[in-house]
Amino acid sequence: MSRVKNFLEGLDDHELAYFAKFKLPTYMKVTQSEIKEYLVERNLNESKIDRLILENPKSKLGDDRERCPRCYSDKIRKDKVEWTNTGGGIGIEDEVATWDGFGGRATYKNEVICNVCGFWLEDPNQERPLPTSKKALYVIWDFVLGVLRH
Ligand SMILES: [Zn+2]
Repeated sequence: MSRVKNFLEGLDDHELAYFAKFKLPTYMKVTQSEIKEYLVERNLNESKIDRLILENPKSKLGDDRERCPRCYSDKIRKDKVEWTNTGGGIGIEDEVATWDGFGGRATYKNEVICNVCGFWLEDPNQERPLPTSKKALYVIWDFVLGVLRH
């Protein structure tokens, strides 16, 4: 059994629906068809997927586990990443990180991504793929802040 199928077996129907809608298109064609085969096995077609997403499994929100705000799954991946984006934000936390950087100490932050639907809960380095126009805006913003600081 392949790794992706292994992962899918651990998902409930709601999670699988969100996965199919949001994350499926990010896989390579070969893997996509493998996933689609599995969806058929689980009896999920397009209209059922839409219905499951519309239902919104809010009943899951009763506990206090950390959940994805989009699909409510608790299958969230956290990676500690070295925080490189010290020049792009405003706030006390950002200032501290900048000073730590000067002292040669790296700052670590959590990069948090939903494993089911691919939603970015926390994106400290702004690695999430952005639409081009938005990306350009970030570059300009970084540039403006850079000017202000010097
Ligand atoms: Zn999610």
